[in-house]
Amino acid sequence: MNILVINAGSSSLKYQLFDMDSQTVLAKGLFERIGIDGKVKHTPGTRPLYEASVALPDHAAAIRTLIELLVSKEHGVIASMSEISAVGHRVVHGGEAFAASVRITDAVLNAIEDVVPLAPLHNPPNLVGIRACTAVMGDVPQVAVFDTAFHQTMPKESYLYALPYEYYTENKVRRYGFHGTSHRYVSERAAAMLGKPIESLKIITCHLGNGSSLTAIDGGRSVDTTMGMTPLEGVPMGTRSGLIDPAIIEYLCGARNMTVKEVTDVLNKRSGMLGVSGVSSDFRDLHEAADSGNERAKVALDIFAQSVRKSIGGLAAVMGGVDVIVFTAGVGENNCPMRIMICEKLAYMGVAIDAEKNKQRGVEINIAKEGALPVLVIPTNEELVIAHDTLSLVK
Ligand code: ADP
Repeated sequence: MNILVINAGSSSLKYQLFDMDSQTVLAKGLFERIGIDGKVKHTPGTRPLYEASVALPDHAAAIRTLIELLVSKEHGVIASMSEISAVGHRVVHGGEAFAASVRITDAVLNAIEDVVPLAPLHNPPNLVGIRACTAVMGDVPQVAVFDTAFHQTMPKESYLYALPYEYYTENKVRRYGFHGTSHRYVSERAAAMLGKPIESLKIITCHLGNGSSLTAIDGGRSVDTTMGMTPLEGVPMGTRSGLIDPAIIEYLCGARNMTVKEVTDVLNKRSGMLGVSGVSSDFRDLHEAADSGNERAKVALDIFAQSVRKSIGGLAAVMGGVDVIVFTAGVGENNCPMRIMICEKLAYMGVAIDAEKNKQRGVEINIAKEGALPVLVIPTNEELVIAHDTLSLVK
């Protein structure tokens, strides 16, 4: 059975086609500049990458081109569209309506529409992606997998902000958390790697990439997480500020003659590692700059490491301990020096990193010294989770 996984952004669309019987990726790729001009990068299995400019006036055009590529003689991997049994979509925000993945119906589409105000940049393109598939693929079963769903198990003391209660009941202001698919996947892999039932473990998962969040997972359930009502809260990120004093916003509006919208835009797009360093949002660039003496790049990296460490301490306090720490995503999987910077002051928790093992990148490994608290590196695979959820819901 083949399952197509779609991650639709405002001007991009990523896809992977899985053969679930052999658990392999038949093809994957990316459409970019949708609505502008149009570009596609398509990798059919182990065959070479195909890159081209194609007219992509909208997402439906991208889906149509995708199907053409998947069945084409030259770049194809299947004989016809009927070989795609179902489509799984990444949907960023499910609000309180979804605590698990669901088969998409009109009612589900309406519920995703209802939370658009909470994720105005993300949910609309996700909906467009779903509708584009319906337009091109007819009534092929479709499934929505939400970034927020895994965190719906958080207790009130974790998800409520200390604001007037009616802002929660009337305006849906609360912590939702994100990257749930990734946190769920790596926590399950962590339990498997340790050979212990997940129900017996207190896990802290650190999804550190361009966007970063950490989650406390107690007995397999998310009990607290660093991202909030939106993906702006938590640790500082590539271009996002993370947690700041909320009074800064009004202050900046006055001091720099900015609107709230302009400040919020800066907090999302020009803050974090980029804002502090003035160099880049990319950790590779930051290490390179810091190594050649750039003080601001160095302090940006120090801020990141300390903020992640502080979150680990906080989440351990939420659970009353921690049995295993997991690093995942671009930075967590690959950035060996950053893992050391984060962990070096966690000795009080029983953390001790083996410098040799820590040199490994992008593979599942326990980088802790013998007898120390397990610190696992686990490459995340959100697409695989989406494919599995889709399979189990359409079977
Ligand atoms: P996204 O949140 O966009 O999915 P990723 O999880 O792909 O982001 O993470 C991207 C980040 O990972 C970038 O800042 C990049 O610098 C960092 N990264 C990837 N590989 C390395 C590496 N070898 N060393 C340091 N940082 C790395």
